Amino acid sequence: DNYQPATGRYDQMKYKYCGKSGLQLPLISLGLWHNFGSVDDFAVATDMIKYAFDHGITHFDLANNYGPVPGSAEANFGRILKENFHGYRDEMIISSKAGHDMWAGPYGGNSSRKNLMASIDQSLRRTGLEYFDIFYSHRYDGVTPVEETIQTLIDIVRQGKALYIGISKYPPQQARFAYEMMAKAGVPCLISQYRYSMFDRAVEAENLPLAAEYGSGFIAFSPLAQGLLTDRYLNGVPEGSRAARSSTFLQRSQVTPEKVEVARQLNEIARRRGQTLAEMALAWVLRDERMTSVIVGASSVNQLADNLQALNHLEFTAEELNEIEQILSS
Ligand code: NDP
Repeated sequence: DNYQPATGRYDQMKYKYCGKSGLQLPLISLGLWHNFGSVDDFAVATDMIKYAFDHGITHFDLANNYGPVPGSAEANFGRILKENFHGYRDEMIISSKAGHDMWAGPYGGNSSRKNLMASIDQSLRRTGLEYFDIFYSHRYDGVTPVEETIQTLIDIVRQGKALYIGISKYPPQQARFAYEMMAKAGVPCLISQYRYSMFDRAVEAENLPLAAEYGSGFIAFSPLAQGLLTDRYLNGVPEGSRAARSSTFLQRSQVTPEKVEVARQLNEIARRRGQTLAEMALAWVLRDERMTSVIVGASSVNQLADNLQALNHLEFTAEELNEIEQILSS
């Protein structure tokens, strides 16, 4: 309650314009998918948000369903804002999303107008915010006409519930449609959010070039492959880690000996560069000039502090990049 943001909070962070927009995002953003729910330690969650803000992380990424329980990350974030950040709303970029399962019945989890409109109102209530800076369609659901979803996003901006809009995980064809429809309406797609890391490079083929073609910024989620691209699993699966918890998102079985061996080899390169594997994994994602920001997750202030150190060494030599390619393709 007597927290005062650090006066030097903008000294170290680097900011980048998001696509062809006037909005700058920090190279490192913080995601609240895990570790901010009602099952998690609220004091740790609070400390992480304070630490982030104190170090120039202005962008916080949420979704309606983040928890567990679903919705609790938004509620906790709202409480943290209310208790500590009075007067700082205009220094923050807060995003949320709708489109995945959230409430019971046929309107609780798709990309229909009904779902998005109800969901953004719920998210605003939970966070206590008057508007989101960025609101996303969380996914293309395979059934709802893209036109319906995109018109809803446009209307959300017109209604003042969000300043900017974005899409997440859209296949190329639907993404192109979205970019064109938004541009025509004069509400361009600010940002495209996709999974991207050394362990998942699918977007390099189409989605990343497409976003750039349309002037949309690009933000990578799970840049550490949920922890696989850190030292977390180099010596087994530690208690309390994402793979050890009941999360269905990173299962113990996904921590394969092969993945760990690749991480170990990458870790050697990171060590030579004078950084941790986590830092190098983030720098690697940011090496691409089309990348606006990476959204990291963290379960402790120490992890977040480590991740921020990536900013100290973002450059790669051609040799290092080649070596990484070889390890990844082995
Ligand atoms: P990461 O790949 O950054 O994984 C974060 C996890 O890695 C942490 O919870 C922690 O795991 C571990 N970790 C982080 N830093 C370190 C470190 N320095 N050293 C060791 N271990 C570390 O990202 P997430 O998968 O959490 O995703 C990030 C954000 O992206 C989400 O919060 C969300 O905002 C967004 N997202 C969006 C999606 C979409 O559909 N649009 C889907 C998924 C994510 P541990 O808990 O084991 O300590």
